Amino acid sequence: MVSRGLGDSFGGYRTRLAETLRAAGIRDLAVLRAVAETPRHLFVPEAVRHRAYEDAALPIGAGQTISRPFTQARYLEALRLTGRERVLEVGTGSGYQTALLAALVAQVFSVERVRALAEAAQRALRAAAVANVSILMGDGTLGWSAYAPYDAIVVAAGGPEVPPPLVEQLAPGGRMLIPLGHGTDQTLTLVERSGAAGQGEVRHTPLGDARFVPLVGEHGVDA
Ligand code: SAH
Repeated sequence: MVSRGLGDSFGGYRTRLAETLRAAGIRDLAVLRAVAETPRHLFVPEAVRHRAYEDAALPIGAGQTISRPFTQARYLEALRLTGRERVLEVGTGSGYQTALLAALVAQVFSVERVRALAEAAQRALRAAAVANVSILMGDGTLGWSAYAPYDAIVVAAGGPEVPPPLVEQLAPGGRMLIPLGHGTDQTLTLVERSGAAGQGEVRHTPLGDARFVPLVGEHGVDA
């Protein structure tokens, strides 16, 4: 949970960012509240901190980027979260989306393959007083079986197919968002699972064009 009254000087900027997203079409009030309460400046490198509350993608090191807040808000809105979920995130990156998720659900399990990013995200989450997050350094295309099944899975990087372990770790009735495609030609896809393991039907719904960094791993693309 993000503590209220963060006591920093960025509160006005956060409120304005949430208003920008509302004006751009984000309707989910819980998502807007999460944006208004999550200190994005703690999740971006010092050099771009002055741009933390712009609705823009920013570099976070290791050749990765933190997505545009509008894109992340759309993404979170599509998961239709109720607050009770256990969620798996693949691609912690800066940890900002992790923090937004943490404000929206019960528990977040996040996997990041780049050690430096996983460690920086861990520090930023601690500084932001976000407690309901566990981070694993490793290949997220394998999921995180120890805490499965997950009510929702968010994949923050794009690959050619849905990694089979992620489908296995999705709870019956669960929802997964994943950019699918080759290179930068990706489609954000909603994967829904009905029924129990083995007999469950899996439905894919395309939600629109996407452009995420590559999902690198055993069930993704080569490094
Ligand atoms: N949503 C993030 C941005 C993520 S960028 C934010 O708010 O900052 C995508 C991240 O996915 C990168 O950090 C990249 O290192 C990571 N990634 C790519 N393939 C991965 C894999 N197989 N397992 C875990 N993380 C992966």
